Amino acid sequence: MNRDDILKIVQPLLECPTAPMFETAVSEEIQRQLSGIEGLKLQVDASGNLIAWFGRDRPKYVFVAHMDHPGWQLHPNRRFLGTVPLNLQDKGQVQEFGEFGMWDLPAFRLDGDRLYSRACDDLIGCAIIIAMLRTLAQTGFGGSVAGVFTRAEEVGFIGAIHLARSKLLPSDATIISLETSKEMPPAKMGAGPIIRVGDLTSIFDPQTADFFVEVAKNEKIGFQRCLMPGGTCEATAFQLYGYRSAALCIALGNYHNCTPDGRIDSEFIDLGDLDGLIGFCVAIVATEATAETAREALRKRLEARLEEFPLR
Ligand SMILES: [Zn+2]
Repeated sequence: MNRDDILKIVQPLLECPTAPMFETAVSEEIQRQLSGIEGLKLQVDASGNLIAWFGRDRPKYVFVAHMDHPGWQLHPNRRFLGTVPLNLQDKGQVQEFGEFGMWDLPAFRLDGDRLYSRACDDLIGCAIIIAMLRTLAQTGFGGSVAGVFTRAEEVGFIGAIHLARSKLLPSDATIISLETSKEMPPAKMGAGPIIRVGDLTSIFDPQTADFFVEVAKNEKIGFQRCLMPGGTCEATAFQLYGYRSAALCIALGNYHNCTPDGRIDSEFIDLGDLDGLIGFCVAIVATEATAETAREALRKRLEARLEEFPLR
């Protein structure tokens, strides 16, 4: 998928106002963008999470992104929803959208390879799932995969926990959380998509992380492999309910709209990282290899050394 096609997915999504528990506009836009894809069925669960089922069989992989972003609940009482330091919450102008508000920042602005928005986290993750599903459909992918768009992640994985407890997703599926994640060393913005081995709270499935490395190397996708402990992602939530969980992300600047010098401003990402992660997700779904075969291949490579260095 070329850059223009990707931005045609990204821009209308970023223009949807959103906050935890107020994801209606985002959900409707995703449903609009996914309607008409052959072989894809949409489902809204009892909590308002949106699930896109592609293909006829049980999906091996379920890609998850969240539809909300830190913001303000305005009625009946005004309160901030999400993780932002208290002393910064009142620093930005608030734009009101009926019952909720967001900081009054541009929804979409390009500057070279950088994309600026009031809410990259995690509307970019949602856009990646849409781009992946469209690419798979266009290339005639015959297998099955699911995309999940959750609610109220920023106030404690509320949508994800309801979904995990409902057992709607197959118990043997691998959950792959897609995020924009606070740029922290050694991760570098512009250096490619990131295999996220864990987050602030948990370590994710090691076999699946190895498998991602194998796929990236085979497909010659530039990648980074990092912990990304700037926040906790939904892979941690799904893991707590017994799902094999993994995560992929791209580096995010001005995480939760907080600048390094203590102001409220747009978040930003690198468009090359975004292109890279879409291609990476497609490659993961399309490959014949699995976490098990990747492990086996690694073991064989290591065992080849045993004969070279006999211990007698
Ligand atoms: Zn966030």
